[in-house]
Amino acid sequence: MEDEQGLSTRCVHSGEIHDSEGSPHTTIYNATTFAFPSTKALLDVVDGRKPGSLYTRYGLNPTIRSLEAKLAEIERAESAIAFSSGMAAESALFLAYVRKGIVCIGDAYGGTLELLNSQLRSLSIPVHFLLGNELDKLQPLLEQGMDLVFFETPTNPVLEIFDIREISDIAHRHDALVCVDNTFATPVNQNPLLLGADIVVHSATKYLGGHSDITAGALMGSRRMLEPVLPWRKNLGQIIAPEVASLLLRSIRSLVLRVKRQNETATAVALRLSKHSKVKKVFYPGLENSRQTQLARLQMKGFGGMVTIELDGDTRETAAFVDKLRLFKIAPSLGGAESLVTQPITTTHHGLSEGELRRRGITGSMVRLSIGFEDEEDLITDLEKALA
Ligand code: PLP
Repeated sequence: MEDEQGLSTRCVHSGEIHDSEGSPHTTIYNATTFAFPSTKALLDVVDGRKPGSLYTRYGLNPTIRSLEAKLAEIERAESAIAFSSGMAAESALFLAYVRKGIVCIGDAYGGTLELLNSQLRSLSIPVHFLLGNELDKLQPLLEQGMDLVFFETPTNPVLEIFDIREISDIAHRHDALVCVDNTFATPVNQNPLLLGADIVVHSATKYLGGHSDITAGALMGSRRMLEPVLPWRKNLGQIIAPEVASLLLRSIRSLVLRVKRQNETATAVALRLSKHSKVKKVFYPGLENSRQTQLARLQMKGFGGMVTIELDGDTRETAAFVDKLRLFKIAPSLGGAESLVTQPITTTHHGLSEGELRRRGITGSMVRLSIGFEDEEDLITDLEKALA
C-alpha cells in the first residue's frame, strides 16, 4: 500500500498502467480474451503461478485490474474487486459469506433490503433487521451465530450515523465479519477499514462514478477476505465492462475535488434550510444540532453531499414543493454533477407499509437532496423559491 501518499495523489496515480505509447493513464483494453506465446505461459496464468490477463469475465483484464488497484488504494485496502453494479457486489458478497445468518443494521438502500428480505430468505438464509434504537439486540443475535453484520453509515434517508468501531468490536467478539456500505460517505469522508470493518462495499454508480453516467460496484478488503467472492463474481457473470472500468478510473481521479465541493455546498444548504420557517427539520450529520454530530466528527472527515429535510406540510404539499424545483431534478440516484431531489416515500421507501414507515421514522414530508456541483447560492435560491 502506498501509505505515505495523500488521497488526492492516490486517486490520480494509483493503479495506472503506463503503456509503451506513453499514455499518462490506463487505456481501454476491450479484448474479451488474451493470447499467450505458449501453452506453458497460458497455464502459468490459468493456475495462478503468474499474474496476467486471460479472460475479461474472470476480471483478468488490464483495465479492470488497474481499476481494482486504484479502488483498493482509495479505501486503504489490500485488495479490491470491481462489479457491474453495487447490487452485484452485495449479492456476490452475501452468497459467498452468509450461511448461518446476516444482521442488517439501520435503514439500508431499498434494493439491499429487497435482496435480503426476498432473495436471501428464499434460499433459507436467516436475515435479521435491527434499527438504530434496537442495537441492544445485536449481541444476543450474534450469540446465535451470524456470519455477517452489514450497515450503511450515514444511512438513507435520515443520515443516521453508526459507530463503525464499536459495532466491529462487538461483531468480531462473536466471529462475525463486518461490511460497511460506504457509498454515501465516500473514502474522502470516511474509511471504514481503518475503523475496524472487514469489507467495504460501494455503489460506484454514485460518488465514485460521480457523473450519473455509469453503473458499477466494488468491494474492498483484505485479499483473504475477498478471495471467496471471486468465483461467485466469475460464475454469476457480474464483471464490470472494460469501457465502464475506464470511465470509473477517469472519475476517481477527480473524486476528492468533487466530494469536497459537495461537502461544502451541502453544509451551506443544510445551514440555510435549518433557519427556514417552512422547514421543520434538517437531517445533516455536520449540523451542530444533529443528535449524532459528535460521533460523525469522530469517524468522518466531511459530512457528505446528501441533505434530508422535513417540511412543515403534508405529503401533497411536499410533492408540490418538489415539483416547483428547477435546478434540482426529480430522480432517484445521488452523487452526480446535477443536484437531485426525491421524496423517499416515492422512491427508496416506496411500497413500505404505514407501520413500517412509522417504525423507520420516514414521513411523507421528507425530501432527500443530493447536492451536485452547481453554485451554492443558485441551489439555495431554487429551494427558497419553491418553499415560498
Ligand atoms: N448502496 C447504496 C447506499 C445505494 O444508494 C445503492 C443504489 O442506490 C446501492 C447500494 C446499489 O447500487 P447500484 O444501483 O449501483 O446497484
